Amino acid sequence: MIGKIKLIDENGLRVDGRKPGELRPVKMEVGVLKNADGSAYVEQGNTRVLAAVYGPREIHPKHLTLPDRAILRTRYHMVPYSTDERKSPAPTRREIELSKVIREALESVIFVELYPRTTIDVFIEVIQADAGTRTAGLMAASLALADAGIPMRDLIAAVAVGKVNGTLVLDINQVEDEFGEADMPIAMMPNLGEIVLLQLNGVLTEEEFYEALKLAQKGIVQLYEIEKQALMRKYCLG
Ligand code: ADP
Repeated sequence: MIGKIKLIDENGLRVDGRKPGELRPVKMEVGVLKNADGSAYVEQGNTRVLAAVYGPREIHPKHLTLPDRAILRTRYHMVPYSTDERKSPAPTRREIELSKVIREALESVIFVELYPRTTIDVFIEVIQADAGTRTAGLMAASLALADAGIPMRDLIAAVAVGKVNGTLVLDINQVEDEFGEADMPIAMMPNLGEIVLLQLNGVLTEEEFYEALKLAQKGIVQLYEIEKQALMRKYCLG
């Protein structure tokens, strides 16, 4: 059945009317929570994610302390009402894995060596899921870290590319994720041109892989601009 569902129509458009290389409508806002040191909200189509950052602050329990750098603790969590069927609030294996890959990506951007013996805690709450939650979560987290004033090499901009009915498409939604042939989330430090996360679920030929990478980079450049605008709206205007 998979691959036989019509995800591209006779005009070459996708189930939500987008062209293959088009992003979903994006909204980003920085500083949305009063009680966190930094926070951000990212909306990509029907995917909605909130990130909150605390720290650098003292670590409890103390034995986790590192003498030469801050530790980073990351929690990716989907709230029970974020999916079509109620999700258990308990952390699933998927959420545990995503918390880990998100932490590893964030660790490569933050100057953790500037804050020895402290922790930086990042909470990502998916409040509505329609695919691309790890990539939206990474962008929300990097904006929240910037909002908390934590020095970073660059912001992270991220998007998932998919293959549906043989066509490579940018920024997949849940139907495309579920019934497509492949999905590949990619996160980058756009200004430095470095990839901080790349995962592939499904099969792509070598040629398709490089094509998908190019498509993702096209989306990442656009998302990076929207991130910078969100930061400027809070810090440069008024
Ligand atoms: P990502 O959200 O980063 O694309 P996945 O590819 O694992 O991560 O998930 C794709 C989409 O599948 C999610 O965004 C969400 O819409 C849906 N999904 C994931 N886990 C669940 C779940 N437990 N219940 C219902 N839908 C889910």
